[in-house]
Amino acid sequence: MISIDFSNAIALGILLFLIPILCVWLFHRKQKDKDLTLDPKFIWFCSICTYTYINTKEEVISVCPRCGCYNKREVTSSG
Ligand SMILES: [Zn+2]
Repeated sequence: MISIDFSNAIALGILLFLIPILCVWLFHRKQKDKDLTLDPKFIWFCSICTYTYINTKEEVISVCPRCGCYNKREVTSSG
């Protein structure tokens, strides 16, 4: 006969059920953190109102969402 209490069996079951979920959750959280790292080229700094914003659509010129001014990316190129 197996002499395990019903409550112990439930506790064990919950533990066995939660450990994989915890592992998956931690794994996903790490991946999310990776996704959150933003490319510096998408971070814009308005020269008019000094507002910092994110624009992933434009790469050369973007419109400031605060004052509506155009901001041009300072391209570091020789010439
Ligand atoms: Zn602005």
